[in-house]
Amino acid sequence: MALISDAIKYSRLALGLRGFLKGTITLEESKQRITERLRDREKNFLNLVQKGIYQNPQSPFFQLLRVAGCEYGDIEPLVNKEGVEAALKKLLAAGVYVSWEEFKGRKEVVRGSQRFQFKARDFDNPFLPVYYQKQSSGSRSAGTRTTFDLKHQLEKSHYELIMLANDNALGVPMGLWYPVLPAAAGISNALRYWKIGNPAARWFSPVEERQVQSSLTNRLAMRYIIYGSRLWGARLPKPEYVALEEAVKVARWMADTKQQYGGCCLSCYVSLAVKVCQAAIENGLDIAGTHFTAGGEPLTRAKRRQIEATGASVTARYIISEVGHIGFSCPGATAADDVHLLRDSVALIQHRRKVEHADTYVDAFIFTPLLPSAPKILLNMESDDYGVMETRKCDCLLGQLGFDTHIHDIRSFAKLTGIGMTIVGTDLVRILEEVLPGKYGGAATDYQLLEEEDGRGQTHLSLIISPTVGTVDEGEVVATVLRELRRAPHPGKLTAGVWGQARMLRVKRVPPLTQMGKVMTLHLIKKK
Ligand SMILES: [Zn+2]
Repeated sequence: MALISDAIKYSRLALGLRGFLKGTITLEESKQRITERLRDREKNFLNLVQKGIYQNPQSPFFQLLRVAGCEYGDIEPLVNKEGVEAALKKLLAAGVYVSWEEFKGRKEVVRGSQRFQFKARDFDNPFLPVYYQKQSSGSRSAGTRTTFDLKHQLEKSHYELIMLANDNALGVPMGLWYPVLPAAAGISNALRYWKIGNPAARWFSPVEERQVQSSLTNRLAMRYIIYGSRLWGARLPKPEYVALEEAVKVARWMADTKQQYGGCCLSCYVSLAVKVCQAAIENGLDIAGTHFTAGGEPLTRAKRRQIEATGASVTARYIISEVGHIGFSCPGATAADDVHLLRDSVALIQHRRKVEHADTYVDAFIFTPLLPSAPKILLNMESDDYGVMETRKCDCLLGQLGFDTHIHDIRSFAKLTGIGMTIVGTDLVRILEEVLPGKYGGAATDYQLLEEEDGRGQTHLSLIISPTVGTVDEGEVVATVLRELRRAPHPGKLTAGVWGQARMLRVKRVPPLTQMGKVMTLHLIKKK
């Protein structure tokens, strides 16, 4: 049966690919499409609510709206009169939202006297054809199965074109440095860059399939897309393994390409961009004037400085797979990670909340995807990110299109991110509180994990072990953590593969920071 359903999915994928790869899009078409989406924003939102929720009783929001006593007839006039965000704020106050852990099915949903247990797949958009299930990982999302949909890839391609034009990076050879499947970023970017007529010339992968224990389905799907695309005339690059410590190979490709073609652009995770730039400086390679488009983790001031020290420029991309493209850098902004909020495809509201296990408050981001092709149907999903939101006019291409909401200082309050791999705090808590004390002694409070950034913009994870725990073999403790991570839900294996290779984890024998919680992200440590 699996073979038959796979065959159906693959033939659907073939048909979809053929349609997707038919022709490329132009800048004018992208501007027009985005203008239409901004114009249709309220209509798209109401359509999703009506068809995706009220006519789809499987949707968890069908139940949450019922508990809130809210009918479609209440929402429509509210949106038409006060707008999407005002309606979302009222729904949030009435208990219509999901936290990240509720969305992932890790926490029971309690609203009033009602209790529910949802799974991430309950939120799937029922109107999308299923080609195969990709798994998110590299985009601050920590592993949800998301339907890989070519229509949504096309909608997102319009942004890529605008963004490259905004950064004067169109028309130069493009490279990718993203992992192979199960991480979806590599193959999705390869398809989108082809669609905008700026195909990737090279695709470097920081991991091999065996390092991340890629499943047969993933390995087949990738070959199918790459070789299938060639049948339809699209030459997508094949992934070439370049280990993290070989960043100089990517830097050399950028320097050579720049010399030969006058420019070069690399799309990758923020930490990888930093590694390429460090390698360029250490090896005297000239990549001045080249461009990076980088996402998957916060573009901090230190990381931006490190990249710009080479004379290269960088665009921040803020993407959450389950939500979609959320923001792209503004070239004129002052904050290191300032992005224009892509209001045509996502609505954002904020609410002030206390961070669990920490004595601090944040303005959490709550997202609602708006496009009919959105992979998940969500009303007010708390992503565990927070930051600053403001309205500002700007005359860059994104500003001209009408995107005047900016967000910046975007950080996570409950997830750890390193080399684009995101892992939810609760997965680590079990390792820190149960596995390590069980194996090496001490109490649950003797172990802690901190995300830290060094002076060169590199993120490290420090595994704090209290000196009161006796002598331990530090290498063995790190190996234990990685082994346990592999057992955690997706992207545990992928994360262990990348973190292991990057030597992300360092042991520090100091007393754990008190009152700080078990797993501390970069920003929360700095706030203290
Ligand atoms: Zn701008």
